[in-house]
Amino acid sequence: MQSVWRILKDIFFPQVCFSCGKKIESGLWCSPCEKKLRDVRLLDAAGCDCPDLEGVLLLFRYEGAVRRVLQGAKFHGRRGFVGCMAEEVQHLEREGLIAGLPMFSQATTVVPVPTDPERARHRGYELPSGIFHDWALAKHFYWRSALSRVRHTKPQYGLGRHERRANVKDCFRVTGEVGTANVLLVDDIFTSGATMEEAAQILRAGGVKHVWALAFAGGGDS
Ligand SMILES: [Zn+2]
Repeated sequence: MQSVWRILKDIFFPQVCFSCGKKIESGLWCSPCEKKLRDVRLLDAAGCDCPDLEGVLLLFRYEGAVRRVLQGAKFHGRRGFVGCMAEEVQHLEREGLIAGLPMFSQATTVVPVPTDPERARHRGYELPSGIFHDWALAKHFYWRSALSRVRHTKPQYGLGRHERRANVKDCFRVTGEVGTANVLLVDDIFTSGATMEEAAQILRAGGVKHVWALAFAGGGDS
C-alpha cells in the first residue's frame, strides 16, 4: 500500500531540487547543486567579535536557494523544509565534512538556541532542534534543551549589529544541566553572532569551559 502511495506521490508531488528543479530522492538539493551551495567552514570566533565562543562552524552559505529555504521555514510555515535541512546535515555528515573538527574531540553537550516562545508557538516548530537533534543523537552527543528565553525579543532579521546585541541582551537563562566541559550551540542561521554570543556568555558564566557554535547557514548576503 505504501509503495502505491509512494508512486502516486512521486507522480503528483515529485520531490525536486530547490535550486534547479531536478527530481531528487531526499533533502533539498540535487548532488551538483548541493556541492555548489555548501560552504563548510570554521570561523575564528575572534573574527566575528564573539569572545565567549571558541569557533563557529557554518554548513551552507546564506544566499540564493539556501536563503529561500530558510525564509520559507521561518516565515512561511514550510515545516517540511526543516526535515529536509536535517537530511542535508546528514548528507554532509556521511561525507565526513562535519566530523573531525576540534569541538568534537571530547564529550560534547549539544544545546539548541531556543526560539522566542511566541514565534515558536505561532510557527508550531523550532528550527534548531528540527535540523540538528537526530544528527546529535547519531553522533552520541548529549542533547540538552538547557537554555530558555526569559523575555520576548524582536526578530533579529533587519536589525543592525548594535541593535541585535541590545535586542538579545540578558534574554536567556540556563534551565538545565550542561556539565562544564564542551557545549555546542546549534542554530539555523549565524549572522552577526549576537544571539550565539549571548547564549555562550551565559553558559560560560555558569561554568562551561568551551562553547562552540554550529549553524546550518551563515555569511552570504545575510
Ligand atoms: Zn539541483
